[in-house]
Amino acid sequence: LPTVLQSVDPTTGRPVRSVPVLAPGAVEQHIQSASRAFAMWRRTHPTDRADALRNLARLLRTRKNDLALLMAEEMGKPVVQGRAEIEKCAWVCEFYADHLPSFLAPQPVTTEWTRSYVDFQPLGPILGVMPWNFPFWQVFRAAAPALVAGNVFLLKHAANVPGCALAIAQLSRDAGLPEGILQVLPVRADQVGAIVDHPAIRGVTVTGSTTAGRAIAARAGAALKKTVLELGGSDPYVILEDADLDQAAETCANARLINTGQSCIAAKRFIVVEQVRAEFEARLLEQLQTRNTGDPRNEQTLLGPLARHDLRDQLHAQVQASLRMGARCLCGGFLPDGPGAFYPPTLLTDVRPGMPVFDEETFGPVAAVVPARDEADAIRLANQSPYGLGAAIFTRDIERGERLAREHLEAGVCTVNDFVRSDPRLPFGGIKDSGYGRELGLFGFREFLNVKTVCVR
Ligand code: NDP
Repeated sequence: LPTVLQSVDPTTGRPVRSVPVLAPGAVEQHIQSASRAFAMWRRTHPTDRADALRNLARLLRTRKNDLALLMAEEMGKPVVQGRAEIEKCAWVCEFYADHLPSFLAPQPVTTEWTRSYVDFQPLGPILGVMPWNFPFWQVFRAAAPALVAGNVFLLKHAANVPGCALAIAQLSRDAGLPEGILQVLPVRADQVGAIVDHPAIRGVTVTGSTTAGRAIAARAGAALKKTVLELGGSDPYVILEDADLDQAAETCANARLINTGQSCIAAKRFIVVEQVRAEFEARLLEQLQTRNTGDPRNEQTLLGPLARHDLRDQLHAQVQASLRMGARCLCGGFLPDGPGAFYPPTLLTDVRPGMPVFDEETFGPVAAVVPARDEADAIRLANQSPYGLGAAIFTRDIERGERLAREHLEAGVCTVNDFVRSDPRLPFGGIKDSGYGRELGLFGFREFLNVKTVCVR
């Protein structure tokens, strides 16, 4: 088993940094420090916790450029998108700081008791198992509500972004967060089970693949720990015959290519009513080919390399298998020469259920067009997926779009004439194999709280 976590620059294939893996004894010390920190932190005034989050937000903004470069180096995110990610982290910290008084306020309930109400109290140390695709945003959207509520947070970050993990630890120290409140544990995936089992850990939040979520949730279930799982997705974007095709194609291309296609809520399956299929396809093809690909450190780059070579090869295998099953390739679909983990924007059409690009999550710039006879067929195909994270519908008839989004699409987040994105103000999460529980907004805030009922005779 590796004794270091090694990051590799996916643009060059060269090693970047290695961080020693924590020994079990050191993990124990971190957990004990978290327990001590929790005993103190839960008693601090909410205003002080909110101020701590505001300090974190300020520091994130100050370091925005460096943190964006770090992401470019460790996982290939274009710096323009990296800076936007850090801004969003600052926003989520401020959002929870601002809303803490109302989110934490006890809720009175009228009963025959003299007084009865619901109070909201922190649970304890929460473990976050996080992925590399948004190395800061995924962490902050989980940690900010936990911390502001009085929980403390232990981060097991993905093995390929150890530098981003250390930068988060540094931010926490430099923002003046008390020791032990937000800790980073450089551990391998095989060490996570023992941490989940540890009696001091009171909850686990996971963002990543369905396989990882299942394994961690099984362990947490045995130990009776609450989990929130934000897992994979294969978001369908339904294009109806009355859609504004120019707007739809541009939005769909952006939604597929964001973060070089490596997002749980990237648009993955484009389900297009036959009547407008050819027109939509031509527009999408044009859109997919106008994005600059290259070194993520370049300001003009919109598409970088994929985060790791093995993930690129896995994506290519999904494309190849789908082509063998009858899909047609309209652009891309090849492994470029050169050292980087680049993959070209790829458009497959005639995609049907049973093909990997329909059935599985595709984590990269691969768009799959799925023909549908009519509205009913499109909705059926959209829902024919093990996943249920996001979904979008494009139509000029807003009422029709809203009705389909609300009543028929099986997903945790549905949009009409726009792409699915997370927003600190709105709950975010999935159904089916995309996981359970919610992050963000008030619903996300409540996940790791003891909803305590107090009744006084
Ligand atoms: P993983 O889901 O394996 O990794 C996410 C996190 O979970 C990492 O910290 C990882 O640790 C950890 N992890 C994985 N397996 C276990 C386990 N059994 N027990 C404890 N922790 C575990 O993602 P990969 O990087 O391997 O990517 C594979 C595929 O997963 C992608 O191609 C994509 O389809 C999907 N994915 C989806 C994401 C999403 O947001 N929907 C995010 C990332 C990946 P470590 O890095 O040490 O293995």
